[in-house]
Amino acid sequence: MLIRLPQVGSVCVSRPEFPRTIIEFQERFPDERACREYLVASRWPEGFECPRCGHDQAWPVTERLLWECAECRRQTSATAGTVLHRTRMPLHLWFWGAYLMTTATPGISAVQLQRQLGITRYETAWMMLHKLRRAMVNPQREPLTKAVEVDETLIGGPEAGLRGGRQQGNKELVVVAVEVRGAGCGRARMQVIDDASAQTLSGFVTASITAGARVHTDGWSGYKPLPRLGYDHQPRSQRAHRLTSSDPDEILPRVHRVIGNLKSWLQGTHRGVGGEHLQVYLDEYTFRFNRRRTPMAAFQTLLGLGSQQTPTTYHEISGHKRQPELTG
Ligand SMILES: [Zn+2]
Repeated sequence: MLIRLPQVGSVCVSRPEFPRTIIEFQERFPDERACREYLVASRWPEGFECPRCGHDQAWPVTERLLWECAECRRQTSATAGTVLHRTRMPLHLWFWGAYLMTTATPGISAVQLQRQLGITRYETAWMMLHKLRRAMVNPQREPLTKAVEVDETLIGGPEAGLRGGRQQGNKELVVVAVEVRGAGCGRARMQVIDDASAQTLSGFVTASITAGARVHTDGWSGYKPLPRLGYDHQPRSQRAHRLTSSDPDEILPRVHRVIGNLKSWLQGTHRGVGGEHLQVYLDEYTFRFNRRRTPMAAFQTLLGLGSQQTPTTYHEISGHKRQPELTG
């Protein structure tokens, strides 16, 4: 049964300011209806337009976020291409999840999400969090530009018994790049890597940083190909630096600050992270870091509003292995 409602455009409101507090968020999205209206307003900011005939009036089809063109009867989903597509979970839980992931420093774990949203099954909260995390990787993201600091770090596992900075043991090797913007940081990129070879590091740099950019690193030989690849490479040896300064972090202060914060976050929020999902957590951290001044855009990106991320299925997320957070 179709119910005629006012045209979609008439319920549109201009995109509101991002709620700064949980109370504001609760007032903005008190129920399913508010979330639905927001979804529709984000999907069709200029009002409904039928993708087939261009007509501007549509009827909602039951409660399923499906809209039927009043002219040609084509049905269009307001959630196609978003994490909300075909979800059986109430919209307001998704909105809360995305809000908490966008704003909560230092992020949120599946257990916290389960408790705070009153979700019965841990697996449901875990699944939701991972679907939102997958929405954090933008395949068309822009490479870092101008001046960038790059360094590697080891994450996870006990420190004992390792000699030298680049021995791995049970740890995961991660390479981090951070844009130099005055005394502060611009955007960041992070990637789990198998080794610190010239081939691997060159691959990361060429994929993450615009050619011609100035790249600051330590004196590690793995960065030697950078000038040949078109970068303005600025290597600095820690040993040479120690002769003039007591603090080796001063060579690459921004990337070391970001690495320090990343480690605190992994330790505090996730109690350490196994290798299998580490890249996903790095992507989450990077996503929030790079959008720390634009939380509204981050929130919309997470829900898939204004982007066309392909939703991820549970099978793709979990593979055949047990989830690490379930065991630890
Ligand atoms: Zn139509």
